[in-house]
Amino acid sequence: MTDTAKIPFLDLVTPHQELEPELLAVAKKAFATAGFIGGPMVDEFERRFAEFCDVNCCVGVNSGTDALRFAFLAAGIEAGSLVVTVPHTFIATTEAISQAGLQIAFVDVHEDTYTMDPEKLGRYLEDKCIFDTTRGKLIEKTSDRVVSAILPVHLYGHMADMDPILDLAKRYNLIVIEDACQAHGAEYFSKKTGTWKKAGSMGLAAAFSFYPGKNLGACGEGGAITTNDESLAEKMKMIRDHGQAKKYYHDMEGYNGRLDSIQAGWLTVKLRHLAGWNAARRTLAHRYHELFAGAEDAVVVPREAPWTRGVYHLYVVRVQDREALQAHLAETGIGTGIHYPIPLHQQKAYQHLGYKAGDFPVTERVAREIVSLPMFPHLSGSQQDEVVSKVREFVGSRVAITG
Ligand SMILES: *Cc1c(COP(=O)(O)O)cnc(C)c1O
Repeated sequence: MTDTAKIPFLDLVTPHQELEPELLAVAKKAFATAGFIGGPMVDEFERRFAEFCDVNCCVGVNSGTDALRFAFLAAGIEAGSLVVTVPHTFIATTEAISQAGLQIAFVDVHEDTYTMDPEKLGRYLEDKCIFDTTRGKLIEKTSDRVVSAILPVHLYGHMADMDPILDLAKRYNLIVIEDACQAHGAEYFSKKTGTWKKAGSMGLAAAFSFYPGKNLGACGEGGAITTNDESLAEKMKMIRDHGQAKKYYHDMEGYNGRLDSIQAGWLTVKLRHLAGWNAARRTLAHRYHELFAGAEDAVVVPREAPWTRGVYHLYVVRVQDREALQAHLAETGIGTGIHYPIPLHQQKAYQHLGYKAGDFPVTERVAREIVSLPMFPHLSGSQQDEVVSKVREFVGSRVAITG
């Protein structure tokens, strides 16, 4: 991913050039008061982002990682208990668990959606855990640890299958926190309520990242937590600000994890464009699907489950020999990425968890085959044509050689 690439993996420059006058006006407004921390710009963004996500409360923080960590810290979860998540995600998901004093447990993802497989979650909770009726808690048999929460990740902008996940959470008395860091604006059709729900509105709380490359990105670091629980939101506001509700009155220790006012102002400007940008990503994704028609055997395109409207943070395909494909595309100046090459249970950082190769076969296979193709709202049709023709050229030549 370089900006000299003919077709970059991600173009962050163009949207900023388009919005430059509005973004500069925000900076000027901030300079006029020098209110760089908190204040009306943060309040306004929080109000608007809560509205966008169909929730009552939004708490702006310094990053998506802080958002996840603060959600766990505020949720009042038993120290040292287990949070069940997936190994096919960015490490921030699990860093937040550990850094909130909790333990990581993995279940595999589903082959079609690359998100938490509810069936495997059910099997883990049913077979590997036992309900201790005296404590009223679910216990993992091998470790004797309490299981307290589920952390589904809406990866690549595609939501996890939330209905069955929420059912399991209810049955076993577990909290659900959503990692919505790649899913701003994604929607899920809940059969239980018969309505479409926004990412970030389905669990007890949800974390969003505004890292520049996300669907809604700051011009620097940023994140937010959404929730319908007002007392939880108040607690998270204290945690982000050294545990104080009032200056120098600290009810607890917290963090320095606030969202800057200028970033909040910039995010408010960009939020007005988010629905349009997401629509552009969906149109591009559907066009990619069409352009790859007939090559399904060699290029597995993303499948959108009928119960979701994804926001295509990434357009991830699966091919054999993906490093060679990346090299082939790089030759003509087409940028690509891999999200993510090494499953978390196979990272050095998590050797102590004791997982081994083969424990999560879907994650492991997917991690070997995935390539993220250029995907951003300003990608043009002709750029897309070129990407697809180069991918087709590659898989065609491989079939010719091996066939
Ligand atoms: C980006 C991301 C995060 C972390 O967000 P930061 O703002 O970079 O801290 C967490 N989870 C997922 C799935 C992400 O993609």
